[in-house]
Amino acid sequence: MRLELDAVSKRYGSATALDSVSLSVDDGEFFTLVGPSGCGKTTTLRCIAGFEAPTEGTVRFDGESMAGVAPESRGVGVVFQNYALFPHLSVGENVAYGLRFTDPPGGGSRDERVAELLDLVDLAGFEDRDPDSLSGGQQQRVALARALAPGPDLLLLDEPMSALDARLRDRLRRQVKRIQSELGVTTVYVTHDQSEALAVSDRVAVLNRGRVEQVGRPRELYHRPRTRFVAEFLGENNVLDAVVESRPETGGIRVGVGDAVFTLAEGRRVLGRGDPVSGERAESDGRDGDRPARPAPGDELTFCVRPEQLRVGAETNQIRGTVVDTEFQGATTRVRLDWGGTELVVAVEDGGEKSDAAFEVGTTLEVGFAPASAHIVE
Ligand code: ADP
Ligand code: MG
Repeated sequence: MRLELDAVSKRYGSATALDSVSLSVDDGEFFTLVGPSGCGKTTTLRCIAGFEAPTEGTVRFDGESMAGVAPESRGVGVVFQNYALFPHLSVGENVAYGLRFTDPPGGGSRDERVAELLDLVDLAGFEDRDPDSLSGGQQQRVALARALAPGPDLLLLDEPMSALDARLRDRLRRQVKRIQSELGVTTVYVTHDQSEALAVSDRVAVLNRGRVEQVGRPRELYHRPRTRFVAEFLGENNVLDAVVESRPETGGIRVGVGDAVFTLAEGRRVLGRGDPVSGERAESDGRDGDRPARPAPGDELTFCVRPEQLRVGAETNQIRGTVVDTEFQGATTRVRLDWGGTELVVAVEDGGEKSDAAFEVGTTLEVGFAPASAHIVE
């Protein structure tokens, strides 16, 4: 099932929850909506499921407008944040509840379908248990089985892991991903957890204040964030405001940040806004009239460098900072540097048992970055 949102807005009185959201989700895709609390993720899902009607805009399933179509007629399975199982029904009865509007797909009996779904979510034989006797992760798997029982064309998951502890969350998200790809069901997954979004999704839409900031594959969003918001929301980043000094003959852009001068490569710039529906980037479409396509001396720009791209001993774009804090994380150590009042995060690959001696708080550390590892945002 192919899902489209075409300029969907939702207002509650004078408050705008969604502001012209356009998205398209391909058949069988695992698509994630990520963003901070209150950015409109749940509202988007509710508009897709039919629990809310958009104030403006259209939701389409396989090209057909869903305006006026009741939730139970949309062929959508929904899993909410809180388990929402019926405590007075057994696990099997909870799953069977998913079949209240339809016969089991495939022509078998209800009991067979319930057993099949419980098997799918690794809860075979749990039919007669009380929901209360299950762990949080097991309860969410029952909720998933219930949502999948009628064989929906579209699966919607609203922060299904948020009530679980970290280890369970990791496991459940792998199970959800496996089940999703086994069934090939088009899925819209909602989370505020950026690492979860990057880990499980085919594509991700980053929402901020009811608007789509960027759509793309996880690696694309991580390495080529379009805006400062995306650069800072997905993973750790060092975001610096700079002024263009010159464009040397040898290529690149020389920019000043305070007293320092850095060389940035041009190749990685996002020139156009890109297409928010497909997530494709336009190379240069000139639609953003307020920003020149080629920055000229005196222009302001913002660029970012990931912590793992700031390297100790690098020979270009050197930065000398004072270590203010270190965190050992196993494979890397996160070193926070004070660089003339600006805080920078450096991820240093762990070099074995004695390697942290150089990162003592108060010592000076020199790092640098390759021109091509800096990325300019809008
Ligand atoms: P998220 O799921 O990303 O945390 P929501 O979609 O729940 O965000 O909410 C988006 C915005 O819309 C918030 O500012 C929220 O307060 C507002 N909102 C959501 N539902 C309602 C409602 N029924 N009435 C008024 N405001 C609402
Ligand atoms: Mg929500």
